[in-house]
Amino acid sequence: MNHKLSQLRAKLQRTQDDIQQLLEEFQGRQPMLPASLYTLRRRCGKANCRCAEGHLHATTVLSYRGGQKPQTITPPTNQIEKLKKITDEYRRVRKARTTLVRLQGQLLSIVDQIQDLRVAEGERALAKVRSTASHSTRR
Ligand SMILES: [Zn+2]
Repeated sequence: MNHKLSQLRAKLQRTQDDIQQLLEEFQGRQPMLPASLYTLRRRCGKANCRCAEGHLHATTVLSYRGGQKPQTITPPTNQIEKLKKITDEYRRVRKARTTLVRLQGQLLSIVDQIQDLRVAEGERALAKVRSTASHSTRR
């Protein structure tokens, strides 16, 4: 039994298990949004405001990049928690997708390595047959 081959078979099984587990990440049912929330700090322009002395106003804005062109929206405060949830969900799923691409590449690489080793075994078997067989006749 080829040691390298059995190692590769075990690796194939592990990678398949990892993919199986990862696929659960794509089973979510909640909405997701390709956007991110960030805090904008700015001056309002009033000369006697505390922001004029450096205490800038903080506003949470949503940068949405799913449409034709990127948009920046200032959501009402009571919607921020909900928006955070659905933008985090989008990021989580995209990250899982990146992992899936990597694992699939790994899976294909293992399959190819197993194939190469088995072909090498087949060629050794053929070489043995050739060395013992009588020469085939040509028609
Ligand atoms: Zn101000």
